[in-house]
Amino acid sequence: MVEATHVTRGSPISTRKRVTPKGAKFSSKRVLFREYLKHSIPVSLLAESVYCEAKVSNKLQLGEMETPVLLEGRLLHERDAKKALRKFGPTKKAEVVTVEDAMLLSYANVMFALKKRKVIANSEKKTLFISVIPRHGIHGAPDFIDCKGKQPIIVESKNTQRLPSSPWLDNQIQVAAYSMSLEVLGFTPSYAILEYVTRDQARTKRTFQIPLTTDIKKQTIDIARNVLAILQGKDPHPTTNTNKCLACEYVSQCRWTPLRRT
Ligand code: SF4
Repeated sequence: MVEATHVTRGSPISTRKRVTPKGAKFSSKRVLFREYLKHSIPVSLLAESVYCEAKVSNKLQLGEMETPVLLEGRLLHERDAKKALRKFGPTKKAEVVTVEDAMLLSYANVMFALKKRKVIANSEKKTLFISVIPRHGIHGAPDFIDCKGKQPIIVESKNTQRLPSSPWLDNQIQVAAYSMSLEVLGFTPSYAILEYVTRDQARTKRTFQIPLTTDIKKQTIDIARNVLAILQGKDPHPTTNTNKCLACEYVSQCRWTPLRRT
């Protein structure tokens, strides 16, 4: 039996039963995971580039910016993740040295969760699933993976001021990338779930099913290539929507914002 494990980077070695994901191709996965993290693109950056490409350049030059809204979102997710992890049950620490280790642990945890019909969650301290798409140099950690059905389904929760009438493209790309990392492991999810929750006391929810179509997968790969090009020095195409800038954490220092020209 494969036990549920969680990943702590740099923790002591734990010996684990090796499992091989069906259909997974591990050709270049002996790469050190910490090196892969340094050189690959976070899924969240793909989503940010959809919001505005200049965010990629700003993040590269100015680093991560903490805002009250981001911190609040993180706290709310942490609360929900801890709740889900309590339901998931006990886990054991495991060492992740290579990309292959990350993939095997994620695979093992999804298999375990499918068997037990559980929901996988990632919190700040516990990572039960690491999204890795080695072929396109992408990594990330989805909020939740619902394993109560036949296939694992990515569930991403977003806190918002107002509920959108349709799912935002940046969020769709994010869940598509996470779902594609499940495909790399041999799973075949046909959709993902995007859940929007209002930040107010009412915590009203709206949920969308995002089909994992060929189009959205191609779009995700194209976006990853574009983000890579921006990271390598290509000029970003900034948004022309000043409302986006007003809500952006980089607005005070951004040299691309159209607000400076108005
Ligand atoms: S301030 Fe505007 S142009 Fe600059 S990164 Fe943010 S959204 Fe893009």
